[in-house]
Amino acid sequence: MTHRISVELATTKRPKPDVSKIGFGSCFTDHMFMMDYDADKGWHSPQILPYQPIMMDPAAKVFHYGQTIFEGLKAYRTADGRILLFRPQQNLKRLNRSNERMSIPDVDEELALEALRQLVLVDQDWIPREEGTSLYIRPYVFATEPLLGVAPSRQYKFMIIMSPVGSYYAEGIHPVRIHVESEYVRAVAGGVGQAKTAGNYAAGLKAQEKASEQGYSQVLWLDGVHRKYIEEVGSMNVFFRIGDKVVTPELNGSILAGITRDSVIQMLGSWGVEVEQRRLSIEELFEAQEQGRLVEAFGTGTAAVISPVGELNWENRKIIIGEGRTGELSARLYNELTGIQRGELADPFGWVL
Ligand code: PMP
Repeated sequence: MTHRISVELATTKRPKPDVSKIGFGSCFTDHMFMMDYDADKGWHSPQILPYQPIMMDPAAKVFHYGQTIFEGLKAYRTADGRILLFRPQQNLKRLNRSNERMSIPDVDEELALEALRQLVLVDQDWIPREEGTSLYIRPYVFATEPLLGVAPSRQYKFMIIMSPVGSYYAEGIHPVRIHVESEYVRAVAGGVGQAKTAGNYAAGLKAQEKASEQGYSQVLWLDGVHRKYIEEVGSMNVFFRIGDKVVTPELNGSILAGITRDSVIQMLGSWGVEVEQRRLSIEELFEAQEQGRLVEAFGTGTAAVISPVGELNWENRKIIIGEGRTGELSARLYNELTGIQRGELADPFGWVL
């Protein structure tokens, strides 16, 4: 089914940035997608239009009660000029799971995929070609009804904006230092940790700030009830190679179900590596290290794909993992996942579109 998305093209095109200098998410393409929701009409008026500021009523519910969700995925340009998206349907499914949790009406996933593809095509000149670069795509939904009552909004906007991003590993892939956070928590089961909603990220800033001041790149989050079980690392899921197995925290309601996480589990399985999804305490991890069984650790997410962890600091106890070097599985996963994403390797899983 094709959906009628109206298109208004920009009359002037902005100059493209030097992607080696722009960092993450600071520069946006010429166009954006927008669609409105009203309780009486449902979702309506899907349109692609020139990138521009939007007018919002100061009473819009999103400003007061944070009823909003977002997604993040990437488009890649292959060496022979094709445009690839990595598992976009999974992002749209998760978008609707987040919507459901935040009492926001479902978006038609077929229409959203169509919107995403058309927008990428309209702005295809913005997909950078340099090694390791991509076009980051940010779909999001937010409550626009101007009403201060605490109840689900009766009006929303669904928008998609896009930003060319440089290589995460311009200086090569290198393990990072992580602070295990014992004071603040990111989310609790029963709360909204499994939804990709703005408040989770705002709630994480304080700990991230504290960790950065002490020279760490990211925070390792522990669960909010026992302050003991490992949840995520920064805004990534986390994996540990312990002995001959790989362990990742099970999806327990406070962890975001990462699409890279799922891809890594499938890929490791296809190599014959056993992946356990279970509760893993920080004590167990430090014990495994003492016994010489903690071989490697890495985070997974759309931005960095694989981010090796070289050092963990937990209440003044410090461990160095894999001698601070990128582990064998991390390197192989990074190469094979990015190879599939850029169309350089065969895609036996049917992940690219
Ligand atoms: N956890 C959190 C909290 C995140 O924000 C993200 C990034 N979306 C991830 C994990 C990784 O998810 P994905 O692999 O889908 O990017």
